[in-house]
Amino acid sequence: MRFGVLALQGDFREHAATAAAAGAEPVLVRLPGDLAGLDALAIPGGESTTIGRLADRYGLVEPLRRAIGAGLPTLGTCAGMIFLASGTTSDRPQVQLGMLDVVVHRNAFGSQVSSFETDLDVIGIAGPMHAVFIRAPWIDSVGPGVEVLAEVDGHPVVVRQENILATSFHPELTGDDRIHRLLLQIRGRV
Ligand code: GLN
Repeated sequence: MRFGVLALQGDFREHAATAAAAGAEPVLVRLPGDLAGLDALAIPGGESTTIGRLADRYGLVEPLRRAIGAGLPTLGTCAGMIFLASGTTSDRPQVQLGMLDVVVHRNAFGSQVSSFETDLDVIGIAGPMHAVFIRAPWIDSVGPGVEVLAEVDGHPVVVRQENILATSFHPELTGDDRIHRLLLQIRGRV
C-alpha cells in the first residue's frame, strides 16, 4: 500500500514513519504527479496558512481536490484538518481545500502555553488514544455528512466524512499507528 504524505511543511517525516509502522510504503508528495497510484494520503500538522500557500504555489490545490473527491482515503492532522476544511471562524482568508464539510476554529484551545495532552476515546478505535494537542483547532460546526468520532469539552476533535478522517491532535507524534491503520481500512469502502 502506497501511503502518500503531503511534504510541503510540518511534521511529514513523523507521518511517513507512522505510515511505515502501519505496514505501508510512505511516499512524499510535493508535486501533482506524486499523487498517482496512492492508496492513502496524510496531510500533516504544521502551519495551515503555509501549507495552503505552498500547495497553491506548487499547483497542488486542484489535483488534491480531484484525488480526494475521487475517494482517496485522506487523513488531516491539526493544520492538515484546517487545510481540508471548508472554512474557519476567522475573517482572515487562507487557502483551504474545502473537501471536509466543517468550520474550524484555529488555535481554539489557546496559544503555545495551552498545548496539552490527554487520553481520548475515539469511536472506531479500541482503547483510549494518548492525544497531543499543539496550538490545536477544534471544530465549530459540522455538515450533515460528517460523523463526530471524539470530542474534548463538547467540541469535536476527530471527525470522519466518507473517505476523509481528521484529528485536531497528532497521532503521528506518539508512535500510535491506529489512526493510520484505520485510514488504510477505508480503502475499498468508497
Ligand atoms: N495552529 C496551527 C494552524 O492554525 C496548527 C498547529 C498544528 O498543526 N500543530 O495552522
